[in-house]
Amino acid sequence: MDIGIYDEIRKYDNFDFDGFFDSVTDEQIESILLKDRISREDFLALLSPTAEKYLEPMARKAKEITLRNFGKSIVLYTPMYIANYCTNGCIYCGYNVKNKIARKKMSYEEIEKEAQSIAKTGLKHVILLTGESKLYCPMEYLKGAIKILKKYFDSVCLEIYPLDEEEYRELVEVGADSLTVYQETYNEEVYKTVHLSGKKRDYRYRLEAIDRGCRAGIHSVGMSALLGLYKWRNEAFLTGVHADYISKTYPSVEISMSVPRIRPHAGTPIKIYDVTDKNFVQVAVAYKLFLQRAGFNVTTRENAKMRNNLIPLGVTKMSAGVTTEVGGHSLSDENKGEGQFEIADPRSVDEIKDAIEKLGYNPVFKDWQFC
Ligand code: SF4
Repeated sequence: MDIGIYDEIRKYDNFDFDGFFDSVTDEQIESILLKDRISREDFLALLSPTAEKYLEPMARKAKEITLRNFGKSIVLYTPMYIANYCTNGCIYCGYNVKNKIARKKMSYEEIEKEAQSIAKTGLKHVILLTGESKLYCPMEYLKGAIKILKKYFDSVCLEIYPLDEEEYRELVEVGADSLTVYQETYNEEVYKTVHLSGKKRDYRYRLEAIDRGCRAGIHSVGMSALLGLYKWRNEAFLTGVHADYISKTYPSVEISMSVPRIRPHAGTPIKIYDVTDKNFVQVAVAYKLFLQRAGFNVTTRENAKMRNNLIPLGVTKMSAGVTTEVGGHSLSDENKGEGQFEIADPRSVDEIKDAIEKLGYNPVFKDWQFC
C-alpha cells in the first residue's frame, strides 16, 4: 500500500544521521559523482561533512544538470504581501501574533494599485502572501485578491495558510496555479517548540498541505525547511525526501526547491543552528544532483553577491524588486504594514535582469501560462 508523506518522513525518526555522516568515505562520494542518477542514500551522503571537499565537482555536475533541463533561463517573480495579520506563534517570525507590529490588510482597491505598480516592472509572476489568519484573510477575500491579480499576471502562486483540498480547488478555479508551503522544520519535536500557538502547531496538517494542493489541481509547488531551526543536514535530507515523494506521487507537478535561511526579524531572539554560505551551496547542489528536474529558487534572504554567485550553479527562479512590507510597492509609508523580515538584496527588477544577463543567462518574465 502507498504510504503518505507523514509516514514517509516518520520512517527516519530513529535514523542515526550523525552515525551515517561519520561513516561516509571519500571513495563513496567519488563513486556517487560518477552516477547519472543517485539514490536517497547517495543524496544523504552528499550532505555529509565528507562531501564538503567535493563541492567543486558537485557544483560542476549541478550546472550540467541544470543546463540540460532548464537551459540558461531564470524566471523572475516578486512576492506581494497583502496582509500581515497572523494567529500563529512562530518564534522566528516578525509576524508572530505576540509581536506588536503595524498590522495591515489591503483593500481590493489597494491590491489593484499594488498589482499595477508591480506590473509596470514587466513581471508576470507573483507570489501572493498573507500572514496566517483565516479570520482576517478568509477564502472570499483571497478569491477576490486572486481575481484582481489575474488581470495583471500570468501566474499567481499562493504562500498563505495551509488549506483543505476543496479550498485549494476553489482558489485554483479563480486562477491560482502554484503553491509554496515551507514546512519550516521536519523534526516534529523541534516543530512544537518553535510553533507555540495557533493552527500552525498542527505539524501533520502543514506537512500534507502540498499533497492537498496537488490533488486540487496546483501545477507547481515550492518547498523547503527554514534552515537554522535545526541541524541543516537532516533538514535538507528530509526536504529532499518530501520533494522526491511529491515528484513520484504527482509526476506532472513542477517542483522548485529553495534554501531559506533565517533572517533577522522583529520579536524573540532564538537559538539558530548556523548555516554558512558553504553549507548553503552544498545543500543547493546536492538537491540538484538528487532531484534533477526540480527548479531552484533563490530569494532575497540572500545578498546580491551570494545570489549572483549561485546563478551558474543551477538557479531557475529569482525574486526581484522585493519588499516584504504589506503594500510595499505602492502605499505611502504611513499606510504600509510592517515587513516579515529584512531582505538582503534590495535590487530592482531592472538591476536583477542586468545582473543575470551579464552572467550570460536569460531573465524570463513570462514562463508559462495555464488556461
Ligand atoms: S511564519 Fe507565517 S505563520 Fe508563522 S508567525 Fe510568521 S506569518 Fe505567521
